[in-house]
Amino acid sequence: MTTTRTPLHTDVAIIGAGILGLAHAYAFAKRGLRVTVFERSGAPVGASIRNFGMVLVTGQPPGAMHALAQASREIWLGWAAGAALHVRRSGSLMFARSEAEARVIESFAATRAEASGYDAALLSRAALDDLYDGRFRKHRAALHGRADLQVFSREAVPALIDYLRRVFNVEFRFGTLVRDVDGGRVETTAGVWRAEHVVVCAGHDYLSLLAPQLAALEPRVCRLQMLRVRPVTPFALDHAVLTGLSCLHYGAFSDLPEAAALHAEVAAQEPALLEHGIHLLASPTPDGGLIVGDSHDYDDDPTPFNAHAIDEILLGLAESTLGSALRVIERWQGVYGARTGTSGAPFSVLRAGPNVTGVYMHSGVGMSIGPALGEQVVGHLLDGAGGRGGCRVGAA
Ligand SMILES: Cc1cc2nc3c(=O)[nH]c(=O)nc-3n(C[C@H](O)[C@H](O)[C@H](O)COP(=O)(O)OP(=O)(O)OC[C@H]3O[C@@H](n4cnc5c(N)ncnc54)[C@H](O)[C@@H]3O)c2cc1C
Repeated sequence: MTTTRTPLHTDVAIIGAGILGLAHAYAFAKRGLRVTVFERSGAPVGASIRNFGMVLVTGQPPGAMHALAQASREIWLGWAAGAALHVRRSGSLMFARSEAEARVIESFAATRAEASGYDAALLSRAALDDLYDGRFRKHRAALHGRADLQVFSREAVPALIDYLRRVFNVEFRFGTLVRDVDGGRVETTAGVWRAEHVVVCAGHDYLSLLAPQLAALEPRVCRLQMLRVRPVTPFALDHAVLTGLSCLHYGAFSDLPEAAALHAEVAAQEPALLEHGIHLLASPTPDGGLIVGDSHDYDDDPTPFNAHAIDEILLGLAESTLGSALRVIERWQGVYGARTGTSGAPFSVLRAGPNVTGVYMHSGVGMSIGPALGEQVVGHLLDGAGGRGGCRVGAA
């Protein structure tokens, strides 16, 4: 139902209260603009609270994405101080389960880490043997990603919203669906607003807003199975954990020559991992549990049905990597935006008119690069071509 009342006014209208919407809200509001965020749910329930909360700097490919992740790390640390949200700063540990995994990690440490400025290094054998009382001794090697951070997203996102409200007077309109944006006119279920800037950060909703522009990108979604577990015998893990399997997924490693041999080995010995896009990530939670995942299923419409067999593979990988029996507390699925075709662009920035911009992730790293992406897009919109940091409108 369209209202006939005089439109309300705000300097900036953001659609979506996920990490991208919040990052853009922060970047505008800290420059003194009046920001209103419209979110159709009563609270954020999208990808931004369903994830591992890993701010992965080490995993990003060298160049623009690594730079975005480094800059996002600094923004997260600023938010941690301002919003009193907990950020784990011990970094990540990537364990090599096999010689093939070790060779990729060692190659990264010996070549790319220094050449491209990654703050990451191999643990010495003695350090690996001593780590967490010898719990990880059986692994062939371990890479310490010192720059990586980790947050507990289901607490961090609400804390960030509270911070934006309190400190920057950002107005949040929850339970408010945006039906249409046309220039600076924003038509919502709670009335019509006018804004100088409209930024659509609608996650993987490709049909409600900017549908023609999005259709041209051939977007898809990726569906992931996730678990929250508790070690049967508690131990205090203070690092995000990955295995060498992640070298097949993250651009910092996946184009290294040694990754091809790893891929061949996994295809021969553990084909189900490739079939379901499984690699192990484990993030400690504040209550002594762990978020464990994930699998990757790319489609247009994600099936709502989780496969027990995939959960069992994930649990088995987690138990053997962590050296602990695990009890499952929660199961859920996450969905994030992806893209078909040959484009490897990890995100798109769409100019849908002089006042309207859409920002969409096409890969599962929005927590890692979203804060700095928001800063770049807002810099570009307010300060002109290139913006601070040089945002390329169109794609990364
Ligand atoms: C299981 C899982 C694990 C992940 N792990 C990590 C990780 O560890 N590290 C990392 O960097 N990335 C991770 N990611 C990726 C990351 O979570 C996403 O890239 C990021 O959250 C996307 O943020 P977003 O703001 O674009 O989308 P979302 O968080 O989905 O937010 C979009 C919001 O827009 C709202 N919306 C849509 N349309 C409208 C409308 N018309 N009107 C009003 N509101 C609307 C939706 O309700 C939603 O709240 C993971 C993703 C998943 C699913």
